Amino acid sequence: MYDVIVVGAGPAGCTAAKALVKKGYKVLLVEKFKMPRYKSCSGVLIKKSMELVKKYFGEAVPESAMCTPTDNRGMVFTNDTGKEYRFEQEGLNVWRSHFDGWLAGKAEESGAEVMDGVVALSCTEKDGFVEVGLHGQKNFTEGARYVIDCEGVVGTLKRQIARQYAGKNTGEVPRYMTTYQTFNEGSIDLDPHYFYAYLQPELSEYDAWFNVKDDLLVLGVSVKDMEKSDIIMEASLPIWKRSTTCGSAGRRKRKSG
Ligand SMILES: Cc1cc2nc3c(=O)[nH]c(=O)nc-3n(C[C@H](O)[C@H](O)[C@H](O)COP(=O)(O)OP(=O)(O)OC[C@H]3O[C@@H](n4cnc5c(N)ncnc54)[C@H](O)[C@@H]3O)c2cc1C
Repeated sequence: MYDVIVVGAGPAGCTAAKALVKKGYKVLLVEKFKMPRYKSCSGVLIKKSMELVKKYFGEAVPESAMCTPTDNRGMVFTNDTGKEYRFEQEGLNVWRSHFDGWLAGKAEESGAEVMDGVVALSCTEKDGFVEVGLHGQKNFTEGARYVIDCEGVVGTLKRQIARQYAGKNTGEVPRYMTTYQTFNEGSIDLDPHYFYAYLQPELSEYDAWFNVKDDLLVLGVSVKDMEKSDIIMEASLPIWKRSTTCGSAGRRKRKSG
């Protein structure tokens, strides 16, 4: 029996696990993917995030989690009319896989039990504890006094709870959008130290973005329907190409999440 089961080994889950262990609680941290896992993210840590890492983990983000250019200098935001706004701020460019893997390692080092490749499927309130239904190599259960849901936006437990409560009030099933990123080889006229966000409808159904990670040009779009992500990305490529020389031929990897 644990004091707390934390579901999800992203920044929230790893930080919660680490802080609770420090207070003397017996903690289990479960993560559905094998660490280090991919997370759809631009991986720019703002100053506040870096300060929180120092506060809860007692040290700065290690070089092993960083990517080039390591210093992010802010954001350039273009609204739906094409007007550009610049926000200057100090930030750090990281690969989320390595950053989150490091955080989980630190939580484990401090005494949390970490199970990766294990998904939480259910929570059932029993007499004085919560039984968490888990699935790794096989189905099993663990008990805890408390469960903290740190599943991020895409989570089995969160969807169950959202459906239960949203259904009660409005009858509506929660809807999600999909983010889709491609990692491209090529060159660009934009400053790689900045994160670029675009609200132009011709680029994406919600927003589109661009940044540079270890010499890869990252193009991202958000879509309502995951099936359409390829089509939307392909349609926007000629527009991206006005400022980049990358394209389908230079495409290396594609990820959605
Ligand atoms: C495209 C995109 C770009 C972004 N760019 C930035 C950025 O540049 N800078 C920034 O600060 N933020 C950025 N964000 C936001 C950032 O990714 C989130 O705020 C952050 O990841 C939230 O952390 P978290 O720990 O709550 O959840 P997550 O990081 O999502 O972690 C949740 C974890 O829980 C696991 N999990 C889910 N369900 C279960 C389950 N049932 N059982 C076990 N494990 C489970 C998941 O696999 C995951 O590892 C971006 C988000 C997106 C989508």
